Formats: sequence, C-alpha cells, structure tokens
Amino acid sequence: MLIARDADGRLINLTSIRNGHSDLHRMRGKTHYCPVCEHPLDLKAGSIKIPHFAHQKLKSCLIDHEPESDYHLNGKIQLYEWLKSQNMVQTEMERYFPEIMQRPDVYADTGQRKIAVEFQCSAIPAAQFYKRTSQYKQANIEPLWILGAKNAVRLSSSTFRISPFQWLFAKQGPDILGPPYLLSYCSSLQAFLLIEHLIPFSKQVFTSIPSVRPIRHISLHDVTPQAAPSPKNWTQWLNLIKMHRLKPHIHLSEELKTLQQTLYEKKQIPLSCLPSEAFIPVATGYLFHTAVYVWQTKILLFIDSLSVRSVFHLQDAGNEIKRDRQIVRRDISHLKHVSIGAPVRAYLEALTQTGLIAKETTYSYRKTAELNWTQNQEELLKRDNELINKR
Ligand SMILES: [Zn+2]
Repeated sequence: MLIARDADGRLINLTSIRNGHSDLHRMRGKTHYCPVCEHPLDLKAGSIKIPHFAHQKLKSCLIDHEPESDYHLNGKIQLYEWLKSQNMVQTEMERYFPEIMQRPDVYADTGQRKIAVEFQCSAIPAAQFYKRTSQYKQANIEPLWILGAKNAVRLSSSTFRISPFQWLFAKQGPDILGPPYLLSYCSSLQAFLLIEHLIPFSKQVFTSIPSVRPIRHISLHDVTPQAAPSPKNWTQWLNLIKMHRLKPHIHLSEELKTLQQTLYEKKQIPLSCLPSEAFIPVATGYLFHTAVYVWQTKILLFIDSLSVRSVFHLQDAGNEIKRDRQIVRRDISHLKHVSIGAPVRAYLEALTQTGLIAKETTYSYRKTAELNWTQNQEELLKRDNELINKR
C-alpha cells in the first residue's frame, strides 16, 4: 500500500514525499493507519523495496491484500501518474469504496467514465475476479483489469501461453465476432503490451498480434482497440501445425486419446496426419477450450459420413459439437455472449473455400467432394501452407 492515514486522520501518499530519506525517517517515528480497517501499519522503507505500508497482521484487514511486489507498486504509481496527466475530473490512488468494499489500485473519473484500474500481478481465484468485477459494476464503476506483463508467457514472437487466470483478462474488441485481446502492462519497460487478435490453437496456446505501446505515447482511450488488426501472415499458426505434425504425441489428454482411437477406427490415420482442413484459425474459436483440431476434426468426420451432394444444416454440424462430451467450452462469462453457432458457422464458411462443401442457402451447405485422408506428411505440410496462406 502507498496510502495511509496519520494520527490526525490525514491521508499520506508515499509517492508524493519530496525529501526522500529525511521525510521517511521522520515518518518512521509516527504511527500510520490503514484507511480501510484502521489497524496500525508498518512503514517499510528499507534499501531493497520501494517504500510502502504493510499491515502488521495481514489477516486483520477487511479487504483482501496480496503481497505487493516492486513491480506492482511501480506499475500502480506509473498508471496513476499516467491517468492524472490526462485531464481527469479525479484521479486517486488506492481509493477505498466502503459500500462495495473495494480499493482499486487507481481510480479515475474522466467525466464520462468512472474507472477502477486493477493492475494484477499475482493470480487470484476466478471467483474473486468475478465478485470484484460485479461489485464495481454495481457501483457504476468500470473495472479496467490490466495483467502484469511479466506474467505473460511468450512462446514465440506472437505466440503466447495463456493460463485460465490470464484468460480472465481477455476483452472483446470492437467486433463482437472478432478475436478478443488482452491488455497487459510492464512497469519495468513502462509500456503496455497489447495482445490483440487472440486465436487459440490448443487449450492455452494462442497466436496473436502483440504490440508494445510506451505509456508516454498512449492515452486511456487508445488502450481499447478501435479496430481489429488484420494479421499480415500466419507463420506462427503454420509453425504450430507443423509442430503438431512432427512432434510425437506422448502424453495424450483424454479427448486426444478418444480422437486418436476414432481416427484409427474410421480412417486408419494417426493424430499427426489430421487433414489440413482441421487447423483453420477462426476468430471466435476461443469459445472452445478444446484444441482447434479436435473440434474441427469432429465436424470433418460428420461431413465425411455424408455422401457427396447431400445437404446439411448449420445446426446439424453444431449439434455434433454440442452433444460431444470431449469438447469443452472455455469460460467466457466475462465476455459478451457469443453462441457456439458462431465458430461453427465461421468454420463452415472457411470450408467452402477449400472445395469440400459449398453454400446452399444462408444456413445450409452441400457436400461437394470427399476429404483426402492421407498419411503423406509432405503432402499435408504443403496443403497446410496453401490453405492457411489463402486466409
Ligand atoms: Zn487494512
């Protein structure tokens, strides 16, 4: 914490201390109190961490306290200064809202929007995330959750491993049927890391379009993307497909074991030889927690069971997915509602480009060719490139 009350009830802000050591030394002799629970606080002003207040007994406070790292404290100060420089009606650090028992890192009132910035550097349970979000909304405050960028796991220039906790920070872009984005901030770089165009390849591996935006050059308005970026190329996505094909599958999840068995029985092919049509990036693919090639293969197997020239409805394909217990939905309760029909439809639309099916009416498709189930890796890798680069 950076804010406390002194014995006279005045708010003391540690970031506004002018005379460094001498002021801190003087403050050490006095008692400070938590503005939330009024318990006495210790002033921690050693040589390692930046000066801050801490509860003598952590459990005694009314609101949850996470231990604050320098990374978090610095970020809080930077975000506060950043908002303060943008002509807000009000900007306050660690303001306590007793009616909802919340104390955001930074509170800002733009005149049109009341915003609670939560710079989250440690994992909290999803239930707590939802509770705090709804409490802010109840008080007509818009929570702005910003992920500590040091927690972002970058697997390549644009591929990230996103844990279920980090997924809670995903936000919808301007287009509800477009891919979501994630806002993170790095207090060491003093820059936002905006991770846009998130498309999951598997449960936690997402390709994206990341960009670093120094805090000095960006306003509050700009951290919310106004238009979805379009990917320049699908190199990273193709790399993930290649890895899937060439890396042996050793530790298989339950759904992959089941899929493997189905494939052997029906098509006599291994998981590494799934058709290229099972790896199509779909903007609303995040609705599935299950890997892209699992749900898409299920639809392909459904189409495969039909004879050429037969017509099927979007809903038929949707039902295949809905009734399949191996296909797990991702938690999207923090996003606007998008139905499972959206990714299924987007996928079928993409399949019309491959020659496998053609559009019959708005919601129905006609099978136009048989799918090529081959075990020839070279042929598959070549077709992966063709299909994906057409996107
Ligand atoms: Zn307290």
